[in-house]
Amino acid sequence: MHKAPRGTFDILPQEYAYWKYVEEKATSLCQLYGYQPLSTPIFEDAQLFTKTVAGGTDIVDKEMYIFEDKSGQELALRAEVTAPVCRAYIEHGLFNLVQPVKLYYIGPAFRYERPQSGRYRQHHQFGFEALGEADPTLDAEVIEMTQQFFYSLGLSQFSIQLNSIGCKLCRPGYLEVLRQYYSSYTDRLCADCKTRLVKNPLRLLDCKNASCQEIAKTAPKITDYLCHECQLHFQSVQKYLGAMNIPFQLNHRLVRGLDYYTRTVFEVEPRAKGGQSALGGGGRYDNLIEELGGKPTPAVGFAAGLERIILNLKQHKIDIPALPKPDAFIAHLGEEAKIEVMKIASELRKTGISVITATGDKSLKGQMRQANSSGIAYALILGEQEISKRNVMLRDMRSGEQKTIPLAEIASRLLNEVKQP
Ligand code: AMP
Repeated sequence: MHKAPRGTFDILPQEYAYWKYVEEKATSLCQLYGYQPLSTPIFEDAQLFTKTVAGGTDIVDKEMYIFEDKSGQELALRAEVTAPVCRAYIEHGLFNLVQPVKLYYIGPAFRYERPQSGRYRQHHQFGFEALGEADPTLDAEVIEMTQQFFYSLGLSQFSIQLNSIGCKLCRPGYLEVLRQYYSSYTDRLCADCKTRLVKNPLRLLDCKNASCQEIAKTAPKITDYLCHECQLHFQSVQKYLGAMNIPFQLNHRLVRGLDYYTRTVFEVEPRAKGGQSALGGGGRYDNLIEELGGKPTPAVGFAAGLERIILNLKQHKIDIPALPKPDAFIAHLGEEAKIEVMKIASELRKTGISVITATGDKSLKGQMRQANSSGIAYALILGEQEISKRNVMLRDMRSGEQKTIPLAEIASRLLNEVKQP
């Protein structure tokens, strides 16, 4: 018996209403803010991630799906989508367009994590990126867009955590101060944090281990060590958020799991925490495009996990529109009627009426049961008598009311009843 690989799952039809709902809200949001869609491959050169997300992060050190293809090239299933978007921006010369270039994507990402509620090995991300502009209004706009996305889904029980992690110039000085602070606590640090202290000290701040969290509480704050430009930028982001009435919480321990961030970082935290943490997160990554071989290009973006959003929609019992049902079901009595049913179904579909037909040789009762369980509003019944008179029986499945109508009128009658009820 084959099963879906651990940490992955099939999305069955009854679940699809949630996916469609979230995807539609995501696309109409992007339309509203002038973002255009982009799709990138699900695998890329492994170095695209190992160089940018960087060693010392869980994603690169523990979670990448890396493999060699038959030509010996080292590839990786994408662990996130920002680096691929930047790769595409450089590869297709999007820097020649008027800046900023605003792009969004929806698609799978792969991380070899320990599966649990809200944490999978294949998950799906919706993200948007504004490339080619350092203006703090864009940071504020991306945060506003994030807030509006969750509101449009009907989710309001979250807070936006905000921090600035400085730039190439000011961060090294802070990291030195942080190292010094932590070096007097090495005996109380978890094994991972002992490595972080050497390889990636910023990540010490968001360790989930209780003892490490105690130490992080009184750690020096990066915002006290920002250079003048970073300070001004961060103040401006907060000023614009204030002007737009977007509540946020400053959180000096927020550092994000990917190494390429600079200045603004933010995360969306659900108020009720379950087996999952951030609903989404983002920030500025002013060096990433240059690191990938492009010209120095500031950029800012956000990504959210669709699975976690759907878990939250269910938790908060948000009403989701059902997927559309077929408009009509066509039942038949006898072999001759079956041929006629195929012809009618084909004609109706050409007019835009969705139809399913009875198959096999179920009794009429069985066929009606099938129509009922599919939730279809109208059934057409075709027997020998109807065929000889060029009629068809139209049954309203909700009221049980039946009437005989000429075959030639069926499309217009259904269009009237079904499409403008
Ligand atoms: P990140 O690229 O780590 O900032 O992730 C962006 C968002 O994707 C997170 O805030 C989560 O909502 C979601 N996410 C990340 N990793 C997983 C995972 N393993 N399973 C489900 N969702 C995830």
